[in-house]
Amino acid sequence: MMPSLVASDVRWPASRAGAVLTVDLAALAANYRFLTHKAKKAVCAAVVKADAYGLGAEKVVPALLRSGAREFFVAHVDEGLALAPFLSEQARISVLHGARPGALKACIAAGMRPVMNSLEQIGQLKALAARLGQKQDAILQVDTGMSRFGLSQADVHKIAHDPSLLDGISLSLIMSHLACADTPEDPANKQQLDCFLSCARMLPPAPLSLAASSGIFLGEAFHGDLVRPGAALYGVAPNKQSPDVIRPVVRLQTHVLQLRQLSPGDRVGYGLTWQATESCRVAVLATGYADGFARQGAQAGCAWFKTWRLPVLGRISMDSMVVDISAVPEAEVKPDMLVDLLNARHGVDEVARAEGTIGYEVLTSLGRRYHRVYQHDSATEDANYETEAV
Ligand SMILES: *Cc1c(COP(=O)(O)O)cnc(C)c1O
Repeated sequence: MMPSLVASDVRWPASRAGAVLTVDLAALAANYRFLTHKAKKAVCAAVVKADAYGLGAEKVVPALLRSGAREFFVAHVDEGLALAPFLSEQARISVLHGARPGALKACIAAGMRPVMNSLEQIGQLKALAARLGQKQDAILQVDTGMSRFGLSQADVHKIAHDPSLLDGISLSLIMSHLACADTPEDPANKQQLDCFLSCARMLPPAPLSLAASSGIFLGEAFHGDLVRPGAALYGVAPNKQSPDVIRPVVRLQTHVLQLRQLSPGDRVGYGLTWQATESCRVAVLATGYADGFARQGAQAGCAWFKTWRLPVLGRISMDSMVVDISAVPEAEVKPDMLVDLLNARHGVDEVARAEGTIGYEVLTSLGRRYHRVYQHDSATEDANYETEAV
């Protein structure tokens, strides 16, 4: 007879990994709907570069499709090709960096729309269009101040004087990118908007796109015809003034591997950089810098258990870190318990501040070896909690 499975026989597959990363796809969808509503006169695209900011494009993209997203942006041609299996017929991928000569054909053949950032890229697409005898759909980016991607003002004037430079190309969007959108009071925002609109007037008519996540919060003047949020979809606040409008999407829970009692004078970690001045209890956690977590932020870094803050002690190792767990009553502390490194109350922005970085980097640094759980993933909702007899 088969042994019956009772609760205690069910081993969570998460115990095989050091930590559990939970991605709440319903929160992601809610963020998408919120941004759609906020920029309601524009199309709301979704930026899913860098594997959807580290959260897993193969889960994130279908969830966004279910929420109505049809325009997706990646940085590289390869990223777009990898997404093709998860997209529906109606969806379109645009490639922010455009395509280098060797990749342009593959980009077009896959139905992806390149962003043209230079006269060279325009020339290459024009030549390809002539060779194929077919007009090619593309986005034109203009640089309006951050000196990164896009045509210079001089290039825009060249096209204004010689529109044949765009022969064979059907411009379906003109875009630019804001440098200071997370600081609404920065005058650079308005200057970039004015510059963008004046460039657009010199170019053939096409829909306009300027705002990424933070830009959406600068007001309707910045929305144009299409907005391109990334970070806000994944739970990063768009600016300091609106910390609570975006729902947290990730939770990161790590296992306690070992508990120890320290005496005054005991030291912790590589370099023995931390020394106990009084007795304390510490926990060794199963997450380290190889998991992309809290590298330079060790001094300010911490974990949380319920409402208790557990400060990191000493240097973070590759696969582990040590935290002070003295504040937690002993009765609450169990071997193999999980503590939080990121949760709804202490999210990516807070951790980023402690580490001296931004929420974007916290997300895109998330490690590859977490056990990942996708909540509210209609395709695999029930399969997340695999059961296994022990
Ligand atoms: C990454 C990126 C975005 C998305 O930016 P967020 O700040 O994450 O919303 C939009 N547009 C361009 C050009 C980008 O490079």
